[in-house]
Amino acid sequence: MTTFKEIGIKDQVLRGIEELGFETPMPIQEKVIPVLLENKGDLVGLAQTGTGKTAAFGLPLIQLTDTSKKYPQALILSPTRELCMQIANDIEKYSKYVKGLKVLAVYGGAAIINQIRSLDKGVHIIVATPGRMLDLINRKRVDLSHIAKVVLDEADEMLNMGFKEELDGILEKTPDEKETLLFSATMPREVARISKNYMNNPQEITCGTKNAGSSNVTHVCYMVHARDRYMALKRIADINPSIYGIIFCR
Ligand code: AMP
Repeated sequence: MTTFKEIGIKDQVLRGIEELGFETPMPIQEKVIPVLLENKGDLVGLAQTGTGKTAAFGLPLIQLTDTSKKYPQALILSPTRELCMQIANDIEKYSKYVKGLKVLAVYGGAAIINQIRSLDKGVHIIVATPGRMLDLINRKRVDLSHIAKVVLDEADEMLNMGFKEELDGILEKTPDEKETLLFSATMPREVARISKNYMNNPQEITCGTKNAGSSNVTHVCYMVHARDRYMALKRIADINPSIYGIIFCR
């Protein structure tokens, strides 16, 4: 069985992920990590949430960061504030034993001034929603001139949410020689357009089935009156005492 060490993960990062209980790489990690670590060019990953893609791009980004420099070296774009926070949080955990690495989540709906202050102090990896990122670029408060890797996470969701122009605007402002990684659960025309316009002959990696949900996830739908939804949710929690959940609102 392949180990994280064999695919190039170094001791400091290994210590962090071992603490999280990661023993062996998940399939997407086995495929993506070596490509990123060896700077083998652009990559399109077809993968759903739950496949381990955050570590697939997060671990190499941590390892490729030069913490002696104070400028941003990697940019991760993600559709929602919650996902940004989750990705930044995961990267912080993976890099627990990497000295001096700074990751920052920037997203709308929070005071931009605090985010600007954090950027001014120096960050290496930025995790951003497209709207807030473009805002920071237009205000000239973020230096993208040293960005070596851009990750477009959940690209299909970003486009569904109407971030097409923001993505175009941001990608145009990043250095030409960077490498771009695009992750998407589905590959509609608009995602293919981003890949065609902004990526250089990307290799494609598929985890699971294209345009399908994870096969190890069961989907259950309960139809209830709107006014009964909290009671219904409570019943579901009551009959599943060990449940962990995320509730998505509109
Ligand atoms: P993601 O698709 O990135 O949201 O990851 C799904 C879940 O799998 C997260 O809870 C991760 O912490 C976990 N995970 C990722 N990689 C591994 C691994 N190699 N071994 C065990 N758990 C993992």
